[in-house]
Amino acid sequence: MSGAKVFFTSMRCKVGDSLLNKMDRLILKAGIDQIDFDKKYAAIKIHFGEPGNLSFLRPNFSKTLADRIKALGGKPFLTDCNTLYVGRRNNALVHLDAAFENGYSPLSTGCQNIIADGLKGTDDIEVPVSGGVYCKTARIGRAVMDADIVISLTHFKGHEGTGFGGVIKNIGMGCGSRAGKMIMHNNGKPEVKPSVCVGCRVCARFCNYGAISFGDDKKAYIDHDRCVGCGRCIGSCNYHAIHNPNEGSGDELCCKMAEYTKAVLDGRPHFHISVVNQVSPCCDCHNENDAAVIPDIGIFAGFDPVAVDKACIDAVNQAPVITGTVLSEQNHPEADHFTAIHPVTDWRVQISHAEKIGLGTGSYELVTVD
Ligand code: SF4
Ligand code: SF4
Repeated sequence: MSGAKVFFTSMRCKVGDSLLNKMDRLILKAGIDQIDFDKKYAAIKIHFGEPGNLSFLRPNFSKTLADRIKALGGKPFLTDCNTLYVGRRNNALVHLDAAFENGYSPLSTGCQNIIADGLKGTDDIEVPVSGGVYCKTARIGRAVMDADIVISLTHFKGHEGTGFGGVIKNIGMGCGSRAGKMIMHNNGKPEVKPSVCVGCRVCARFCNYGAISFGDDKKAYIDHDRCVGCGRCIGSCNYHAIHNPNEGSGDELCCKMAEYTKAVLDGRPHFHISVVNQVSPCCDCHNENDAAVIPDIGIFAGFDPVAVDKACIDAVNQAPVITGTVLSEQNHPEADHFTAIHPVTDWRVQISHAEKIGLGTGSYELVTVD
């Protein structure tokens, strides 16, 4: 595959201009108007930010993008799926609360928020993964798959499980329903925390495999011989009594994310924007963020999700380290920035597997836009 064009604008801004104007010029130069938006639903995949974290993207970026899509005739909405773990975004009610709390409202962005996999994260569609090695199908939030066009708007940062969090993470993990996330994370089966389970039996109604039974103590018990690891029970429990004990990093997780991204994007127009600012060492899913490890760099955009991710990786790895941060405290002088922060991860796997399955290319030509 030949190199893809990735368009870039820096964080520098002249008096009388604004970074939002620069972003709008960037996406036009990158060709977003080549997409036929006329009367089409455009899903903008965003991370609303876990409350407490302050490095997520400001809603102003979403408004600029939504306004542009509307000007092109489209019907944009902001979307994300519920998380697998306990937090403030693991069902649609608290997820929407978190989005509003972080400033994502129709008043600020000009479009609606839709939690793609529904109230409890169980509203998904099984989508084929063309060329998938680890996943033949992917469980994707319904609203994402109902959209005609997918646009990713990503905060690029480090990630403790996958090395970096970029387009592939935003779409692949982010558009997976809770069952989909379970499959990506899963090297095992969920478990019940007996001290938290109240014996309400709701989870058993969601299990299509008859894997959940109840003991004399009325607590739920998961039979791992019957369980297929679909994760639906995790979303069904109002008490967060069911968890995945096998969440972990690893190459397989990176590969599955790339395959889920392909399931989401195949057969539909798509476009990708990544903002490389406040590059925190870990995911915005944390309810805190450590100090940015490099100076703010700029915004990248293009049609190839893999090329956009690789351009962001290269830019971060070429950037100077900010002193007094977790990156400056690492003692891995030979390692790139991502490997230095998270030595157990290998960010290259996301790129290489994405290339292998035909999601895109890590070869790119960088075009600078003023
Ligand atoms: S839904 Fe949760 S609290 Fe209710 S029985 Fe199942 S595990 Fe226990
Ligand atoms: S993960 Fe799926 S199969 Fe396993 S117990 Fe939960 S709902 Fe049943």
